[in-house]
Amino acid sequence: MKAIQAIRGMKDIPPAETPVWRRLEDAARDVLAGYGYHELRPPIVEKTELFRRSVGEGTDIVEKEMYTFADRNGESLTLRPECTASCVRAAIEHSWLRGRGQRLWHIGPMFRYEKPQKGRYRQFHQLDVEALGFPGPDIDAELILLGARLWGRLGLQGLRLEINSLGSREIQQAYRSRLVEYLSSHAEELDEDSQRRLGTNPLRVLDSKNPRLRGMLEAAPQIIDHLDDQSRGHFEQLQAMLSASGIGFRVNPRLVRGLDYYTGTVFEWITDDLGAQGAVCGGGRYDGLVEEIGGPPTPATGFAVGLERVVALMQIGEAPSDPGGPHAYLLAVGEAAERAAHSLAEQLRDALPGLRLIVDAGPGNFKRKMKSADRSQAELALILGEDEMRDQRISCKSMRDTGSQQTVVRSELIETLAERINVGA
Ligand code: AMP
Repeated sequence: MKAIQAIRGMKDIPPAETPVWRRLEDAARDVLAGYGYHELRPPIVEKTELFRRSVGEGTDIVEKEMYTFADRNGESLTLRPECTASCVRAAIEHSWLRGRGQRLWHIGPMFRYEKPQKGRYRQFHQLDVEALGFPGPDIDAELILLGARLWGRLGLQGLRLEINSLGSREIQQAYRSRLVEYLSSHAEELDEDSQRRLGTNPLRVLDSKNPRLRGMLEAAPQIIDHLDDQSRGHFEQLQAMLSASGIGFRVNPRLVRGLDYYTGTVFEWITDDLGAQGAVCGGGRYDGLVEEIGGPPTPATGFAVGLERVVALMQIGEAPSDPGGPHAYLLAVGEAAERAAHSLAEQLRDALPGLRLIVDAGPGNFKRKMKSADRSQAELALILGEDEMRDQRISCKSMRDTGSQQTVVRSELIETLAERINVGA
């Protein structure tokens, strides 16, 4: 029968890779706790309406990338393409925004029907960090510092920070007409994608990667030149705070981000080490979103880290990690011994926390079981045969060095194991 394969763009993370993922997730949890952020675990599926309202109708995500389906009741649901909308929905639903700020984070899978390529998948993972209810540039700076600390903890170097300000909704609207006017006067130079975006989401034309458009886009009006005093003040204060904290950055007037809800500060952390998919983390302010989803007017800011890309960076120049073999492999031969094996193993696990012990499973003779013990790469084989059962003993055979074997009285087994293997390692 033909074997079934995983869905295109959705990949397994094999056991050899999970230690890097865990190292990243542990570091993230630690850093986030250090800034007072709390974990939220929203569902993976939401009502489609949530993303239409938040991410925006004219965006690539909503137009062509969502996994949307009708449930058995005919309701339109969507596998979340991002997580900010869910965090905001949850905060409104549980009334967490009444008079106080919320610092939240979440790690989990997101789904976008994109063209799969290296660093771009249809199921990918994000660390999502959101600060709701804080209006000032100080919280934007905090998020950027938090990101920088995470890169430091992971030993990642060479991540560049780019920032921009998109101003308020009113400024964006006024700027949009100016931009459309400019782009329309260069319509014949636009590629097919940009032509389409000109009609749906003109700001996105600015971050086209097409080198043919570069000159024309560089001469386009820039939103940063049209900010009002409040937006400009906010952006200048943010830059001063970053400089005071020793964070390097570049103002990139063409940084616009692909989701509609951004207002004011936007930023991206970028690497040159991953080829075309160099954006490792992106975020910014979304001061209007809480209200658009039905909550009270609430300023907010956040970012999302693409974990596949961070893992790829962590793996550069790093030998595949050793997931750590078992300390011991317990094999029982004969009916009575097989019946006793699990209870003995449980006693050992109770007595020696951290012990990695495999109990042989399946039929077979002594030879097959020893072969399995060898393959498991355990340090010790614990052999429980008919003789050992009769004498209340157990044989311990070293699987590494000389293959030395000793027979231990059952009551002394815990002590012997504690001496022979390094359970903490
Ligand atoms: P966004 O939610 O589009 O602002 O993306 C935030 C970050 O998520 C990006 O900087 C990427 O690192 C990562 N990302 C977004 N889309 C994908 C994808 N399809 N595959 C892998 N990572 C992604």
